[in-house]
This record gives sequence, structure tokens and C-alpha cells, in this order.
Amino acid sequence: MALVTKSIKGTQDTLPSESYKIQFVEQTVLETAKNYGYKEIRVPVFEHTELFQRGVGDTTDVVQKEMYTFEDKGGRSITLRPEGTAGVVRSYLEHGLFNEPQPMKMCYLISCYRYEKPQAGRLREFHQFGCECLGTASPAADAEVISLVNDIFLFLGVKDIELQINSIGCPECRKNYHKALHEYFESKKADLCGTCLDRLERNPMRILDCKSPVCSAIAAEAPKVTDYLCDECAEHFGKVQEYLKAMEIPFTVNPSIVRGLDYYTKTVFEFVSTQIGAQGTVCGGGRYDGLVEEVGGPKTPALGFAMGMERLLLLMEAQNLPFPEEAKCDLYIASMGEKATLRAARIATDLRGEGLHAQFDVVGRSVKAQMKFANKLGAAFTMVLGDSELENGKAKLKNMATGEEREIQLDSFADDFMRISINESLKGLEDLGYESNIDIDSIMSGNLF
Ligand code: ATP
Ligand code: MG
Repeated sequence: MALVTKSIKGTQDTLPSESYKIQFVEQTVLETAKNYGYKEIRVPVFEHTELFQRGVGDTTDVVQKEMYTFEDKGGRSITLRPEGTAGVVRSYLEHGLFNEPQPMKMCYLISCYRYEKPQAGRLREFHQFGCECLGTASPAADAEVISLVNDIFLFLGVKDIELQINSIGCPECRKNYHKALHEYFESKKADLCGTCLDRLERNPMRILDCKSPVCSAIAAEAPKVTDYLCDECAEHFGKVQEYLKAMEIPFTVNPSIVRGLDYYTKTVFEFVSTQIGAQGTVCGGGRYDGLVEEVGGPKTPALGFAMGMERLLLLMEAQNLPFPEEAKCDLYIASMGEKATLRAARIATDLRGEGLHAQFDVVGRSVKAQMKFANKLGAAFTMVLGDSELENGKAKLKNMATGEEREIQLDSFADDFMRISINESLKGLEDLGYESNIDIDSIMSGNLF
């Protein structure tokens, strides 16, 4: 019997105490993409199985071994998305987005599902941030997409991550390359793993992506795709490199990068780290000029990338990068008795209306226990309300960092507290060396900018 208090193998929870990290990363990637003109698209978690068979490719590991496919109660074959591109392309076609100004720049934050062997950086449910740029064949677009990823790492402070690029050509130049690869691997047949023997007949380029050490060693000596590029693909690849140099984005050419999905053409790239173990590819992408047609649309050159959010977090943690602290509680109002709690509820409501984080006792604990809780929340200020405070219309507001107490009127509480709280923040900024000549009244009246 399934143990219902244990999550399914290869899945993980993000706990409330940790979620600020991923929230910060998600905000950063979305903001960065916005700078490049990308708008978010949301697509379903599941699609027709055939979309992925066609869009990801029948010869890929993803389609052959890793998909979560099931029949729904209507007898349809459904698959949980193993990646984002196919669904985005489907949506682009379904909604005629090719009629809008091109290129169409779309980004997404999604969960993905692949039945893989769980290990560090490899899960069965994982998350991707992806960008797709449809409707441009220019090498400038390839460089721009790579620059977006590069900016994300810059803004997050990620260091020591290597950009590796390659060109895997178009179907035309790939014909000759496949022939050369087939000949080469045919001569090494005795040492290849079972899966690669099958790949040899179906798609020999897949062997270059095999993770087994023996196959990788054989693949390292294989003919290089860059020696087989047609003039157009070679020129395109040269231009991409020219743009990258102009944008001062360092890269290395790695002819063994082929990417895991079938639809790639011309430029492919990965951002790789050596600091998070065997699963070092944090981001992978490239051009997929044939995909839109493959899915049933008009010929549309396009490109994109996807970044593994779990791997990105692992890398940031390995590099001890800071995640901005989540906002602490601005005020905890402790209360004694029902009447005081009602007043505390009212004050908390007013403060929340002003955008502050306020809490009061919703458990019915003793004042001592409430103060202990306030401490755990890291409340910046606390205040105790009891019968005498209500009678006198004032209470003592305590600054928890300094221990300093001051009297505060209950009638004009929200306004007075806002002033005190803003003042503290400004003082904090001055302590950090920022000069502040900001006037509190202009902040309060919303006329600052
Ligand atoms: P790998 O070679 O590591 O299997 P892939 O080529 O299958 O990766 P893509 O399909 O290009 O990966 O997905 C883009 C990114 O998504 C990867 O670079 C990685 O960061 C992340 N990713 C892919 N599969 C997983 C997984 N099972 N668990 C966690 N992250 C993943
Ligand atoms: Mg994979």
C-alpha cells in the first residue's frame, strides 16, 4: 500500500521557509526576459501524446522512455508535458500568433514530468524557465537569446558557468554527417551499449548524447558535425559567434553538443557548471527551424532555451549566493481578552490595507506565548493590548531590535505607525551608508515619484 505521507519518488516539496529563494529566482528570470521583450505564456500541463511524439521526436530518450503517458476516461492518450516548447508551438499555431508582429517572444515557468532515474539535479517532476522566439532566422536572434541567459546568470551573481555552443546544421548538411557517423559507429559496434545500437539505425547523432562512459569515450573521437556544415549553416554559425563577441559574451565551441531533443537545427548551446555534480547542464537551447512545420504549421524559423530551476538553485547554493531575505513581520499585536483581540484585528486590518505585514493572536494563546511567537516571526515591532490600553486609548510600541519603547495613540495608530516604520527603514538605509533626504510626508502621500 502506498505510504500517503511520503511524496512520490523523484518529486520534491518547496517548504514555506525556503520558497523565498525560488520566488526571487523566478522574479529575476521574468524581469530579465521582459528586458528582451518576452511576455509570459501559460499552457496546460497535459497535451495529446502525439504532440510530444512529433514535437520532441520519436527517437529521443524523452519520448521513448521518459514520458508520463496515460489514457483519460474519454479514451484519449494524454501526456504530462516533458518540456515546454511543443505546447508553446501548439498554442502559437492554434491561436494564429504568426499573424502578430514577428518574432513572437514568449516565456514560461512550468513544471515538467519525465520518468528518469532520480538523483541530484535529476527529478521526475522538475521546473523549467523557458523562452521561445518564433519567426526569425537571423543569427542575431541566436546571440540575443544566449545573451538573455547570460544576463540571468549575471543578475543572479552566478559565476563559473561555461557557455558551450555548436551547430548541428540543417537536414541537408546532416545527411552527409549521419552517413559519416554511421560509418564510424558501425566500426565500434562491439563496444556500444544496447540503446546506442538501436540509435545507430534510427538516429546516430543520439549516440553523441549517451551518458554511458564507454559510449561517451567512443563519441569523443567521432567525426565532428562542424566539418560537415553546408555553406549557409557554416556562415550562420560564424555570424552567431561574431555577435557573441560583439556582445562580449565568452563561449567555447563544443562539437559534441547535440541536445536531447530531435527538433534542433543549426545553433545549439548549453550553459554548464562543474559545481553541481554529474547533472551540470543548467540551461540548454538552440534553433529549431523545422519544428513548427513538424507540428503542422507554416515553415517558421525559431529558437529558444530552457533552464532547469532545481539545478539553478543547486548551483546558487553551491556558490553561497545571497537570496534577498523575505520581508519580516512589521508589527505583532499581542492581546489580552476578547475586546483587546477585536481591537487588534481592526488595527491589523488597517495596517494590511497600507501594505504592511501585521499579525495578531488567532490561536488564543497567553500573552507570554504570543510574545514568544512574535520573536520567532522576527517582528520588527510589538505592542500589547489589554483592558487598560483600550481604556486609555494608547499603548506601548516596542522596537524589538533596540528594545526601545514609546507610547502610541490607538485612534491614529495606522498613520503614526507608518511614520515610525518608514523612519526606521530610512535609518537602516543610512546605517548602510545611503544618504536619505527623502521626506516621510511625500512617501505617506504617495507623491514620492
Ligand atoms: P540532461 O542531458 O541533463 O538529461 P536534457 O538535454 O534532457 O538534459 P532539456 O530537455 O534540454 O534537458 O531540458 C533543459 C533543462 O532542463 C536541462 O538543461 C536541465 O537543467 C533541466 N532538466 C532536464 N531534465 C531534468 C530532470 N529530470 N530533472 C531536473 N532538471 C532537468
Ligand atoms: Mg534528459
